[in-house]
Amino acid sequence: MDPRAVVDQGREILRRMRRSGEERNSRRARDFVMRWSMRNAPLKTQLFRLVDVLPSLHGNRAVAAHTRDYLAGSTRVLPPFARWGLSIGTRVPFAASAAARVGVGQMARTFILADRPQHSLKPLIRMREQQIAFTVDLLGETVLSEREADEYAARYLELTKLLGNEAARWPEQTLLDRDSRGAIPRANVSVKISALYSQIRAAAPEFACERLAARLRPLLRAARERRVFINFDMEHTGLKTLTIDLFLSLLSEPEFEAWDECGIVIQAYLKSAEADLRRILDWAREHGRRPAIRLVKGAYWDTEVALARQRGWPIPVFESKSETDANYEMLVRLLLENREFLQAAFATHNVRSVACAIATAEELGVPKQDLEFQVLYGMGGELTSVLPEMGFRVRQYCPVGKLLPGMAYLVRRLLENTSNEGFLRAALSEDVSDDELLRDPARETHSRRAPDKQDRFQNEPLTDFALEENRAAFRRALSEVELKLGRRYPLVIDGREILSDRWIVSRNPADFRQIIGTTACAGEQDGERAVAAARHALSKWSERGFRHRAAMILQVAEKLHARRFEFAALEVFEAGKPWEDADADVAEAIDFCRYYAQQALRLELADYSVPGEANAHEYHSRGIGVVIAPWNFPLAILCGMTVAGLVTGNAVLIKPAEQSPVVAAWFFELLRHCGFPRGVVQFLPGAGSEIGAKLVAHSEIDWIAFTGSKEVGLKIWETAGRTVPGQRELKKVICEMGGKNAMIIDDDADLDDAIPGILTSAFGYGGQKCSALSRLIVLDEIYDHLLERLVEAVRGLRVGNPAEPETAIGPLIDSEALARVKRFVTEAKELGNVLFEGIAPELEGYFAGPVIVTDVDPNSRIAREEIFGPVLSVFRVRDLDEALSLANDSEFHLTGGLYSRSPANIERVRSQFNVGNLYVNRAITGALVARHPFGGHGMSGGGTKAGGPDYLLNFVIPRTVTENLMRHGFPGEE
Ligand code: NAD
Repeated sequence: MDPRAVVDQGREILRRMRRSGEERNSRRARDFVMRWSMRNAPLKTQLFRLVDVLPSLHGNRAVAAHTRDYLAGSTRVLPPFARWGLSIGTRVPFAASAAARVGVGQMARTFILADRPQHSLKPLIRMREQQIAFTVDLLGETVLSEREADEYAARYLELTKLLGNEAARWPEQTLLDRDSRGAIPRANVSVKISALYSQIRAAAPEFACERLAARLRPLLRAARERRVFINFDMEHTGLKTLTIDLFLSLLSEPEFEAWDECGIVIQAYLKSAEADLRRILDWAREHGRRPAIRLVKGAYWDTEVALARQRGWPIPVFESKSETDANYEMLVRLLLENREFLQAAFATHNVRSVACAIATAEELGVPKQDLEFQVLYGMGGELTSVLPEMGFRVRQYCPVGKLLPGMAYLVRRLLENTSNEGFLRAALSEDVSDDELLRDPARETHSRRAPDKQDRFQNEPLTDFALEENRAAFRRALSEVELKLGRRYPLVIDGREILSDRWIVSRNPADFRQIIGTTACAGEQDGERAVAAARHALSKWSERGFRHRAAMILQVAEKLHARRFEFAALEVFEAGKPWEDADADVAEAIDFCRYYAQQALRLELADYSVPGEANAHEYHSRGIGVVIAPWNFPLAILCGMTVAGLVTGNAVLIKPAEQSPVVAAWFFELLRHCGFPRGVVQFLPGAGSEIGAKLVAHSEIDWIAFTGSKEVGLKIWETAGRTVPGQRELKKVICEMGGKNAMIIDDDADLDDAIPGILTSAFGYGGQKCSALSRLIVLDEIYDHLLERLVEAVRGLRVGNPAEPETAIGPLIDSEALARVKRFVTEAKELGNVLFEGIAPELEGYFAGPVIVTDVDPNSRIAREEIFGPVLSVFRVRDLDEALSLANDSEFHLTGGLYSRSPANIERVRSQFNVGNLYVNRAITGALVARHPFGGHGMSGGGTKAGGPDYLLNFVIPRTVTENLMRHGFPGEE
């Protein structure tokens, strides 16, 4: 194509835009917000955060306080609504609040068409009179439960019927209602897939697809009957493949076979956009269909980049705007060249992109009426009127809904359009010339953001189960591992395999008929022999040096990495972990190896010499240690404690938990393949109260690394404190114990975020994480609303076999755990109020449904003891003071959480909530090595922080050597 054709088109559009001096309200508001945020970039985030929280605030004081917290010190540069808010301040909170609310309300109304469908009719008719077509999108809160999804589906159905019935009566507008093939639907609805099913799990898209299809069919039928066009909107990339699969499979169903008034979105910022478009194209060709494609740039850029970076996943989007723009232009051509199979709509505010579509269409001889442009309501500015003037159809994307849920939409739009690279931003600034605005993006040099700092520890990424190849690999691993179950595993002492006369039988907690494996059970004699072998091996090993040992530990990491899914699959069977949890446990084990290997190098000789005096600070191994591990992170914790001991030059005896000995046996086999010398690491599965207790008390054991319950931990602490004859070292106890973790929900919290955070924290792995949430402390103002939504959300959690990826909650670990949970629930029924009790499936496993308890006495056992199951107690408090005092009223200090949008409250909780790991505005489980060193104090542990920079110091003894180098006043070499 002649590049000048695009520029000429662009100039023509710009010329017309300038001439059309219409000063519409929407444009003024849009330009005002954008100009303001361009001038005040540092304040932008603060202002947008304030805008986000304002509608959910209760009372004028809260509004005044938030305005002050977010914007104090910047009065002069603020937009008027916030300035009034601040200047009137807390003295007259009512006025401040009213001003802020009015301001935000006004701003929202310029971007949101109406508060409900009925009210949207008038403005839609007016819009059509101005030669502008529409698509309506329903704003709403994030759908967290099936009830909410049903409500959403019903609202969409109602909207579709309403618009369809009304539109039939509207006069035809040729520009809007016809293309070269004939009439096109007058009514047009955009549907968000995530709003139609609350339990979408990346690992189980097929399951979600079925449920989504069931909710969509009635909508599609109603649309088809009334000639309403339905567009499937696209959200974040995690849902992309699911959305396309759903679209294609629904449209392939016999009843929709002859219906093409349906479309989907392609986001040009995705690197996969072309492949996705070609997939839809192939389908259309093969089936003789002609679905519509709305080509957009993509609205979740910041989130996509940040999340990919956080997760260590490949960044799915182009990192520079010009690459996206160039990709957009390429896709424009692809779409128009294939117009026989695809209808096209170009959604963009970028004049260059619009010009490119027009020029390409001209070149390919596409009739004008077959081109459609789309703009966002309130954001399109002059383009909205200029394009119809030029004879093109423009459709406005019109959100309809209440202010509160509208805020998330609004803020996303503001962020998107005020980003440094946005077209609107450039178009608004006076010193950008037309040439620059219309420059070919393919010729621009791409400005990439600086890559992450390389010295930061890189965590092993969790698996992206949204990718089919990963799901297939995991399914394969499950079947392969299942074939290997049932083996026998010996003890390994001094390199020799030893069978015992007693055995530990490990069963699948989701199906206790299935035996995972049988391990030998160490007795007292075995312990003695192992200690002797360790003593023998110790000195050579400890002399090997950190570098050598770190290299060996890195080998462990690589071997685990190579067998990642195999280990995870085994955990699904032995520990009853759902896919994601099992995967995360193996990733954490790999992290521990890599991180401790890296940290060990920091312990190499430190030199503190001065002239005439050589000073060396050296770390030596403590000696022989025993690792006593729990079952709930059967690989990560066992592996972490073991490799920490090994890399620091100790000899290690491994005593795994009785419930997960097979995972431990596999890990031990892997260690053997790494070639650790005999006796340096030995395998002693057995009963905790026997071999565990014996080793703890043994005179030659120098340290104990324990993770488990408070009861056992305290016993170990006590035993280790008693010096026995023959003992040479004071025993070091590295001790991590339980928790009774609390989360505070402030009255301005975003429940769309808080509720998923609560679900993950309280019910992930059935509440069997030491970090799990068990006390939810909610401020009075939002207590009722939160509980109502929470109960419904919990109702949707699927309890079942964790081998099935749609399972949210698997079994408890054993019959004792189940009995314990049942006891607590019975007690709760007597002493409190069981608000919700989930039903356990009737399978041959230890299943318990999730339970929510209210009206619990803070001094009762339910409120104080670790339950280690899916039981959540909820407390109502008046204010933050009461919340904090209740949260801190526990002997445990492990994890804690807060959801709040008040900067002052966040600061206060940060300093006063006494826990080892505090999480703000996120779930309280899922700590990552290096990023969130983990562990508590009080009765939760010794504050040693696994996965943190100080952890290895627990496994070494520091020695300092000082040598005077002076000889008769001659200092010698430094
Ligand atoms: P547990 O205390 O029952 O068992 C832990 C280990 O101790 C097992 O290997 C067991 O065999 C052994 N053991 C039992 N009695 C012993 C004795 N008298 N002497 C020596 N060893 C003995 O704990 P569990 O049920 O395996 O794990 C769940 C507990 O672990 C929960 O309380 C949880 O909060 C805690 N945990 C804490 C952390 C943390 O980092 N703070 C992490 C995971 C689990």
